[in-house]
Amino acid sequence: MNESNVRYQSTDEGKKRYPPFGIYKGPFWDEPHLWKVCTCKPECLDVCKGYCGCEACWESYRDSLTVA
Ligand SMILES: [Zn+2]
Ligand SMILES: [Zn+2]
Repeated sequence: MNESNVRYQSTDEGKKRYPPFGIYKGPFWDEPHLWKVCTCKPECLDVCKGYCGCEACWESYRDSLTVA
């Protein structure tokens, strides 16, 4: 699979947070339909937790909670 073909629309800020495409894959490296796109804006907090509606940061935050 070619990641450059991913149709997701991440923001520029999202690409900074999850380079190079602004996508948070979590544990699902082989399952593109489960990837989350970061839609953060520059004014988002460093640890966004998805409060802006960003699924990538929400998923990332949730995953961090389950890490022992
Ligand atoms: Zn985000
Ligand atoms: Zn955000």
